[in-house]
Amino acid sequence: MSLKKKTKKTILQLGHNSGIISALANFSSENFLTVLNYHRVDYPENRSWLDPSLISATPEDFEAQMQLLAKRYSPVSIKAVLDALSERKKLPKKAVLVTVDDGYRDFDDYIFPIASRYGIKPLLFVPTAYPNGGEFWWDKLYWAVKNWEGDKLETPYGVFSIATTTEREVALKLLRIAIKKGDFKESMSLVDSLYNESKPQVKKDTTDILSWDELRVLSNNGADIAAHTHNHPLLTKIPFEEACAEIHQSLEVIRKELAQDLPVFAFPDGQPEFFSTKLIEFLKKEKVQFAVTTVDRNAKLQESNKLFFPRVGVYKSLRLPAFSYRLTPFYKTLGSS
Ligand SMILES: [Zn+2]
Repeated sequence: MSLKKKTKKTILQLGHNSGIISALANFSSENFLTVLNYHRVDYPENRSWLDPSLISATPEDFEAQMQLLAKRYSPVSIKAVLDALSERKKLPKKAVLVTVDDGYRDFDDYIFPIASRYGIKPLLFVPTAYPNGGEFWWDKLYWAVKNWEGDKLETPYGVFSIATTTEREVALKLLRIAIKKGDFKESMSLVDSLYNESKPQVKKDTTDILSWDELRVLSNNGADIAAHTHNHPLLTKIPFEEACAEIHQSLEVIRKELAQDLPVFAFPDGQPEFFSTKLIEFLKKEKVQFAVTTVDRNAKLQESNKLFFPRVGVYKSLRLPAFSYRLTPFYKTLGSS
């Protein structure tokens, strides 16, 4: 680690221990909000067939993060965010909303029970085609590249040497980028053919995603669940009409399956290249009140940004001081940690 990085880490640690970092969050404007974005909370050795890069935290780290939120911040529910938007009630200072994408089983195993212990209500975004046995393309790709026999992988995106573990990791990274850049349907058929040709080495569990029955139980126990498209496509990489149908269908399926009607939506892989003004206009037509992206920052909640609100990503390597810094208005204003 460089001296500059080491110094920064020490300052963050001291700031965290002394409570200065969390005090900095008091300097935020009215209705300032941090929306945290988690995917999976699990141990990498559990469900080792799934792409480990989707693990946002171990259960222990997640618990420490929730404990910190409860102690030094103001965790809010999606209802509080909607109330603030309709001007019924302002958000408290240091407001933080915990969101979780994709509906993996660990929401039930770890996220919901741990968050509930600290009085925190996480919001889960579910792509509605996946409960009852779906598999995501990134997990299929991970499986295929990890288990591909031989030391070369030939694809339309290039020939990759996969003789070593590092080479396989590099190939996976490059393929992920190429897939997101390419035509979405062609990319998906490539992933499927690689996946079907790769030779399974361990028996896979097929219940990685929560079923509708399980989601209903969670919903009845107070979990907030909202739409995240039907098939989780990259919305700007498919025809506009199909993208609209994806959004509409997912809102409808959530209503039908869960008897919940949260006017809330998360863009799949919500980087700026994967949402658009036209799609935001469509969300208005669908009466969506709040939609989130994965643009990594926090912001003042306003009418002008409520349909493409940024979220602060949580990653496995994130230590508690850096996590805390991300909840202050200085994150991305003074630079990332
Ligand atoms: Zn997603």
